[in-house]
Amino acid sequence: MPRVKTSLTGIKPTHVPHLGNYLGAIKPALRLAETYRSIYFIADLHALTTIRDPEALRSSVYDVAATWLASGLDPDKTILFKQSDLPEVTELAWVLSCMLATGQLMRGHSYKDALEKEENPNAGIFNYPVLMAADILLYDTHAVPVGKDQKQHLELTRDVAARLNHVFGEDTLVVPEAVISEAPLVLGTDGTKMSKSKGNGIPLFASKKKLRKFVMSIKTGSETLEEKKKAEGTTVYELCSQVSPAHAAEMKEKLAAGNFGWGHAKQILFEALDAELGDKRDGYHALRADEDKLDAVLADGAERARVVAQATMARVRNAVGLRR
Ligand code: AMP
Repeated sequence: MPRVKTSLTGIKPTHVPHLGNYLGAIKPALRLAETYRSIYFIADLHALTTIRDPEALRSSVYDVAATWLASGLDPDKTILFKQSDLPEVTELAWVLSCMLATGQLMRGHSYKDALEKEENPNAGIFNYPVLMAADILLYDTHAVPVGKDQKQHLELTRDVAARLNHVFGEDTLVVPEAVISEAPLVLGTDGTKMSKSKGNGIPLFASKKKLRKFVMSIKTGSETLEEKKKAEGTTVYELCSQVSPAHAAEMKEKLAAGNFGWGHAKQILFEALDAELGDKRDGYHALRADEDKLDAVLADGAERARVVAQATMARVRNAVGLRR
């Protein structure tokens, strides 16, 4: 097993990533590559629990790949691949599901949430923690960055790995640790959590002109231009401090001095965003226009991931008695 520890991040391709995804998920996940041998995968099998439009799914996979690459994912130093390119994961999910009590899945909170909303969840949603466990265990993952909402699923992964090891041999699977990530909450233009479904998102790679329009649409207080204003707790300021502390400090000082309106503050936020995203935006559009190149990056990533996956599956098949 490799001496450097492995971290794994899954990305569900359900929409074009927005600024909340960039600040809350992409940037923190890319920082992992400084400490770990980092693997990133685009979870198209997971997306099938909700997506019914094949073209939308194919397109989202490219959107996500281009976004992460343009945001700084280095495909030579890390591994980026598409989940379904390694069908071994579904075989491992089956083996794991045979080690899990159905009660454990029934207590899964995304399944329970779906039941509460009377969504009549499909079996994919019920089984999703098993596929997630297989994603993690297939690649000998040591560290999984998880938000608080995913802690329960990681516990299930640890349980099932420990159980399989206990029954079939201690060295079969690596039991992973959770790295609890305190992802910042990114607010949308209406001042509530930025979310695709709420239509309050700031697109990551919109043109400069559109970006400015989105920034100018952020809700603010109605103080007069002359009034001295408190920056903390306002959407414009909080967003700015997540993008560029230097721009945020300037904004805070000017707001506190008075004669500085919210329109001026938004202009500072726009400049901070444009400085952060301008080059990446160009990179994104060049990459997104070249699906052959994206396919090649993903195929190369899959080939390298397969080396680890096949070794894991050889241990698993041998341990449980599918091979000798
Ligand atoms: P989603 O866009 O709902 O598929 O979210 C994908 C990931 O992006 C989440 O697991 C979060 O880590 C991150 N994310 C999405 N929206 C936000 C937000 N408003 N603030 C912080 N992180 C977010």
